[in-house]
Amino acid sequence: MGSALSPAGARTGPIPLDLEEAILRLKAERDALILAHYYQESEVQDLADFVGDSLELARRGKESPKPVIAFCGVHFMAETAKILSPEKTVVVPDLEAGCSLADGCPAPLFAEWLKRYPGHTVVSYINCSAGVKALSDVIVTSSSAEVILRQIPDPVVFAPDRNLAAWLEKRLQRTFVVWPGTCVVHETFSERRILELLAAHPGARLIAHPECDEVVLRHASFVGSTSALLKHVVTSDHPAFVVATEEGILHQMKRAAPGKELIAAPPEDGCSCNTCPHMKRNTLEKLYLALRDLSPALEVPDALRLRAKRSIDRMLEMTAGLSLTPVGGRS
Ligand code: SF4
Repeated sequence: MGSALSPAGARTGPIPLDLEEAILRLKAERDALILAHYYQESEVQDLADFVGDSLELARRGKESPKPVIAFCGVHFMAETAKILSPEKTVVVPDLEAGCSLADGCPAPLFAEWLKRYPGHTVVSYINCSAGVKALSDVIVTSSSAEVILRQIPDPVVFAPDRNLAAWLEKRLQRTFVVWPGTCVVHETFSERRILELLAAHPGARLIAHPECDEVVLRHASFVGSTSALLKHVVTSDHPAFVVATEEGILHQMKRAAPGKELIAAPPEDGCSCNTCPHMKRNTLEKLYLALRDLSPALEVPDALRLRAKRSIDRMLEMTAGLSLTPVGGRS
């Protein structure tokens, strides 16, 4: 047993030197499932039972018989797991791991705004709080949004990502009422620097997540959810890609397609904004403490949970036949 905690981990007690071994031991003792989002640090991904995107993680958490879920992602994702599995203990390494999309759409403001649009079906991206989910008719993820929206007639309110909404409007040739939120990571990719990169690597193709701005998406040869981007890199004959999404996905891409050249799309000069500061709050040290202390644990009041669950259940019903890694499409 070794060092004292870093200031980031205010919880007390010694931290084992071999954190990986200690986490696996605690995981067995707690009979826990470790879930990690693709945007986690590679060392966290490597310890997870399952690495995936929002929809996959929601499904895995619900289906698992394990009584404890250690959720390495951001708050709204762990909250979704708790909503679907209230009988389980859902712990997170860092309770402060938020999301600019979820934080930029507070439920009380959203409720007021919705009053302007009576009769609309409220479709919300999963990157939102339980309060917003409770106000929504159906939840979507980037991998399920198109399939679900094809089943819903207009008029539609879409929240809280305006870039994803614009991408879907273009795909579906429809117009939605849109809450104007953005992801701090995906909106900051630099079109200028991406074009410079593509010019310097003429054999590479741009692939992008639909949370990116339209000025980036229009240069992409393929647009899709994180899982779809991963699948595309593996299955495409193309040898090189510039990848416009959070750089954590490159870890799984390199493992799944070791022969391919993969280049993280750049933000503006001097900024490391292509990494999500919220996702990166989670560390092995904090994961160890979460499993050791079974804290911090997510709690969602029952009345709120049941209202939020209806919209998530609707998403799961409407995507029941979907492959776990549906493909995206061209911009
Ligand atoms: S990458 Fe963007 S959408 Fe994803 S958790 Fe971070 S801030 Fe939220």
